[in-house]
Amino acid sequence: MPDDAAKREMKSIPPKGADLSDWYTQVCLRAQLVDYAPVRGCIVLRPYGFAIWDLIREEFDRRFKATGHQNAYFPLFIPESLLAREAEHVEGFAPEVAWVTEGGGEKLTERLAIRPTSEVIVGMMYARWIQSHRDLPVLINQWANVVRWEKATRPFLRTLEFLWQEGHTAHATQAEASEEVQQMLEIYRSVAEDILCLPVITGRKSEHEKFAGAAATFAIEALMPDGKALQAGTSHELGQHFAKAYDIKFTDTDEQIKHVWTTSWGVSWRILGGVIMVHGDDRGLVLPPAIAPHQVVVVPIPKKGDDTVAVAAREIAALLQGVARTHVDDRPEQTAPWKFNEWEMRGVPLRAEIGPRDIAAGQVTLARRDTLEKVAVPREQLAARVSEILADIQRSLYARALAERERRTVVAHDRKSFVDGLVAQTGFVESLWCARTECELDIKAETSAVSRVIAGAAEPGSVCAYCGCPAPVRAFFARSY
Ligand SMILES: [Zn+2]
Repeated sequence: MPDDAAKREMKSIPPKGADLSDWYTQVCLRAQLVDYAPVRGCIVLRPYGFAIWDLIREEFDRRFKATGHQNAYFPLFIPESLLAREAEHVEGFAPEVAWVTEGGGEKLTERLAIRPTSEVIVGMMYARWIQSHRDLPVLINQWANVVRWEKATRPFLRTLEFLWQEGHTAHATQAEASEEVQQMLEIYRSVAEDILCLPVITGRKSEHEKFAGAAATFAIEALMPDGKALQAGTSHELGQHFAKAYDIKFTDTDEQIKHVWTTSWGVSWRILGGVIMVHGDDRGLVLPPAIAPHQVVVVPIPKKGDDTVAVAAREIAALLQGVARTHVDDRPEQTAPWKFNEWEMRGVPLRAEIGPRDIAAGQVTLARRDTLEKVAVPREQLAARVSEILADIQRSLYARALAERERRTVVAHDRKSFVDGLVAQTGFVESLWCARTECELDIKAETSAVSRVIAGAAEPGSVCAYCGCPAPVRAFFARSY
C-alpha cells in the first residue's frame, strides 16, 4: 500500500473527544481486536484481542488459584424446569434468555436455556456433591461463554455472547460466604487497578440494582470518558436462596442438617472495553504494559540495500529477552512510518526504533505510546531503561485515570446540585442517600441515572440529597453502560 494512502487510512478514526462511541468502535476494529460476526450483536475475538484477553485472564486465574479456587466446566444448556426453581433469578433473566427448542431435527420435549449465568446448573450439581461439613467449602470457578439477548450492543461492553469467568462457592456459614465475597471483590479491585490501570470505586449495590436472586451484590465501577459508569465486576452473597431452591444441604458438625450459603462472582471481557475507553487516544489503543501482548515493538529503519539494521533489530530483541515481550516488525513490504502508525493504533506501550544513525551512536530510540515522548538510550542501558519505562507507563496510566475520575466526581449537597450533576453527566455524583427504592426510581425517572454503589455509612442525622429523607449511607450515582 502506498505510504500516503496507508497513513490516511490509519488516521481516519474520529477524534476521541468528538464522538466517543464511533471512536471506540473504530479502535476495536482497527486495532484488530474484534470483527463483527454474521449474527447481530456477536463479535469475533481476533488473535490480538484474544492475546490481550488471555493476559487479563491469567492475572485473574492466578489470584483465584492462590486463594484456593479450582477451575471446572459446566454445560451450556439448562433445562427450563431447572431454571424456573429460583423465582427471583428466573424473573430477572427471563427477558434475556435464548432458548433451544429443536435438536437433531426434532422438537425438544423441554426447552433448553442457553446459560445467561450458571448458578442453577452449578447449584444442582452442588446438591449432589455436598453431603457433609467435610465437603465444604466448595470453591469452583469456570471460564466460559454466556448468552444474554441484548437489544443494543457494542464490542466488549455489551454483546449477545460474551466470555467471562464465574466463580461459584458453597460454605457452611454465612460469615464464611460473606468473607469469600469480599475477598473476590478485593481481587477484582486489585486486577482492575494494578494490572489494567483502571481506578474503581467499590461497594454494595442498592436493592434495586442488585443481582437477581442475590441477598447482596458488591461491585467495582469504573468511570468512562463520557461520564458514564461501567460495572466491571460483581461479587454476590446469595444467602441460602439457591441452596433452598436446589436443595443443597449438609450435615454439620453438630449432626444438624443445614442449607449451605452460596456466593457467585464474575468478570467478563467487558472490563477490556473499559481499558480501551479509558486509556485510548486519538491515535488508537493505549495498552497498560501488564496486558500488552507486545510490550515493545522493534522497528528497523533501513537504508536501501543495507541489512545491518535488520541484524541490529534482532540484537535488540535478544537484549530484551526476559525483560519485555518483544516483537520485531521486519515486514519488508511496509515502511517504518506505516509501522509506527499501526503499532500506535494497536496500543503497543513502547516502540524501539533502530536506524543507521542509532547504530553508529550505539543507541536505540525509544518512543512511549502514552506520552509519545522519544528518548535515545545507549544499548548497554537498554534492558534496564525499558524495564523502568514500562513500569512508569503502568503507574502513570493509573495516575492519569485516577486524576480524571477525581476531577469528574462531584459531591452533591442538595437536590439541585444532585440533579444538575447527573444531567450534566460529568461523572460520578457522590451524595448522602436514603437508600430507598422509591427514591432511586424517582432519580432514575428524572435523570436516567441510578446508584452505582453504596460506599459506606453516613454520619447519624444525615439527610438524602435528593429527597430529604434520613440518609443512612453515602453512595455514588451515574448513568451507566
Ligand atoms: Zn432519597
